[in-house]
Amino acid sequence: MEIVCVHCKSINRVPAGRLQDGPVCGACKQPILPAEPVVLTADSFDAVIARNGLPVLVDFWAPWCGPCRSMAPMYAEAARLLHGRALLAKLDTEAQPAIAARSGIRSIPTLALFKAGHEVAREAGARPAQDIVRWASPFLG
Ligand SMILES: [Zn+2]
Repeated sequence: MEIVCVHCKSINRVPAGRLQDGPVCGACKQPILPAEPVVLTADSFDAVIARNGLPVLVDFWAPWCGPCRSMAPMYAEAARLLHGRALLAKLDTEAQPAIAARSGIRSIPTLALFKAGHEVAREAGARPAQDIVRWASPFLG
């Protein structure tokens, strides 16, 4: 399975059975599938969304948004629960307004799930970890 490194955008090949074993990037040696949310930037967003063999769940949030900050620990818990099934990522809409605009984000937090570069589900509003997992699971392998 091809996994894009969020740090250097290198494409790594990881056997499907090794996704939860803490694989590191062949180029920059950083973890490519940590059991915690990864941070996307304008530099990495397109490559990570488009080329990943695993579905990518993105939390569009902002530091000034209270519900976003409240959801952060729940989202981190969801990343642990979905480890190996999806890559959970965060996109700071204040730091990356162009991506938020292009993605049509009208309220935050908004969760959007991408498979092979295509958005397959989206939902606005903060929610507990178990609800995130329940909502995303039908779209995951
Ligand atoms: Zn890398």
